[in-house]
Amino acid sequence: MMNRYKRAWLFRLAISLALLLIVLAVGSGWYSGGYVMQTGSRVTILGLGNGQGAFVIGEQGAQAALGWSWHRYDPSWRWWFSIAKTPQSSQMLIPLWAPALGLLVQAWWVRPKRLSKGHCVKCGYALAGVAAELCPECGATITHA
Ligand SMILES: [Zn+2]
Repeated sequence: MMNRYKRAWLFRLAISLALLLIVLAVGSGWYSGGYVMQTGSRVTILGLGNGQGAFVIGEQGAQAALGWSWHRYDPSWRWWFSIAKTPQSSQMLIPLWAPALGLLVQAWWVRPKRLSKGHCVKCGYALAGVAAELCPECGATITHA
């Protein structure tokens, strides 16, 4: 059985990352940008925009500005996946709601269970009939309320 504290920590982490992605998904409707780097004769772009994360590999071309850049756009969002391939470049767009949804499913999966009376506070083991001072499942000290 997974430790309660670890579950609670994973729950908070998944919720926080999902909220961050939702904020980025909404915010990237107005602001778009990313990082452009040169890898050999190719250019790799990691970007955010229109509610999507973008991964582009292409030949060095018009987008010569390497490094970070940000632009403000008229708000627009695209909500679906897109993969585009031309002889010059490959582009993959991932809507940010997709990983956010994945994280929310994970959060639900590890959601902290309500602490029920007569169960170990650490691992949730049912302590009915246990007279010992330590939880037989995880060894935590039992506090008899
Ligand atoms: Zn226990």
